Amino acid sequence: MKNLLGSSIEELENLALNYGQAAFRGRQIYQWIYNFRNRKKSIDQIEVLPLDFRKKLKEDGFHISELSFQEKNLANDGTLKLLLATTDNESIECVGIPTEKRLTACLSSQVGCPMDCKFCATGKEGLKRSLKKSEILDQILFIENEMNRKVTNIVFMGMGEPLLNIDDLLLSIKSINQDFQISQRKITVSTVAVPKMISKLSAKSFQILGTCQFTLAVSLHASNQKIREIIIPSAKNYDIENIIDDCRLFVKDTGRRVSFEYLMLSGVNDKLEHANELSNLLKGFQCHVNLIQYNQIDEVEFQRASLKNLQLFQSRLSKNGIAVSFRKSRGLDKNAACGQLRQNAKNK
Ligand code: SF4
Repeated sequence: MKNLLGSSIEELENLALNYGQAAFRGRQIYQWIYNFRNRKKSIDQIEVLPLDFRKKLKEDGFHISELSFQEKNLANDGTLKLLLATTDNESIECVGIPTEKRLTACLSSQVGCPMDCKFCATGKEGLKRSLKKSEILDQILFIENEMNRKVTNIVFMGMGEPLLNIDDLLLSIKSINQDFQISQRKITVSTVAVPKMISKLSAKSFQILGTCQFTLAVSLHASNQKIREIIIPSAKNYDIENIIDDCRLFVKDTGRRVSFEYLMLSGVNDKLEHANELSNLLKGFQCHVNLIQYNQIDEVEFQRASLKNLQLFQSRLSKNGIAVSFRKSRGLDKNAACGQLRQNAKNK
């Protein structure tokens, strides 16, 4: 344990004891890491600790935050996108999305992504590596510090496919829940769907967290397999009907509802025939469909669907008995799409 961030109160108490300190010194470290109002991002700044203890911790390579600030982009609606550097000179993005009552942190789970979704700037770069638990949690520290507000909700919808980093994903959820005091019900894990991993997610969640109370959001983006493979080439290994079956099992195992993300792309998946096809696919399934406006990126031929098509699509799903909502894209001024800030920084 060289990263103090992500450590439980018991682990920090044991650490203090191992250094010949009283257990309450560990509780002090815990307070200064996780309590938003007291937050310190370096061991040096925790001045309540004896100087020699701080010195020994640092000499032994312990630290709190290991990411560093690279760039930020504040949109007119208050959405803040941050580009952060890892210690191996990679960069990752995270986003703070504020409303009056909430601050939602959109977190990355990997550096890059292997899924190659055709609409996504991150997918164009391929996968560099998965993020460690501490790097996932560090993004929350940066968002809270930059926005001077406590994060209330978490969505794993940033760079990477969370189900390909399942252990660190679930360990970070454990800490978000226990240490950052954000309930599992305020956490959403978004996946483009990887064969066998939806059932593994619920099984491992019970094993690591004892429950599985977060929301699963599956990026479907299509009403049939053929269209899905055009948008997400990696989908060829996982038939859309099998995804729905696995999601039904997830609901049965966890008692949680699944939501399906549907990116509206002009001329590709935004017609009424697609709305009807999607309704048939989801018939009898207690789920929710989120329609999303597309954020245009360079070198990609997809176009944002018109507002009129979006509204027609939404009312057809509703009429067919499917629970549906329309999620407006936030932070649309510039570099709004996932991976765009990173791509632009690289081009510079
Ligand atoms: S949309 Fe998500 S899963 Fe697809 S390539 Fe981008 S980051 Fe990966």
